[in-house]
Amino acid sequence: MQINISKSGIPIFAIVLLAIVFVFGLFFVGYDQGHIFSIVLGEQAFEDLYIHELTHDMRHAAGFPCH
Ligand SMILES: [Zn+2]
Repeated sequence: MQINISKSGIPIFAIVLLAIVFVFGLFFVGYDQGHIFSIVLGEQAFEDLYIHELTHDMRHAAGFPCH
């Protein structure tokens, strides 16, 4: 008698990992106003807006509210 156990399908940790990457990417591209760099640069990051400037055209193209 032979028992074959085939494990197929997507592991749950892969879905969780991709969901985290997706949420981070969505925040990075669509909503960051200096929050990420403020961890390192402090209040100055909210005036420099490096990520905002980097992703500005992408935000408009993707329809995110900007200004
Ligand atoms: Zn804009």
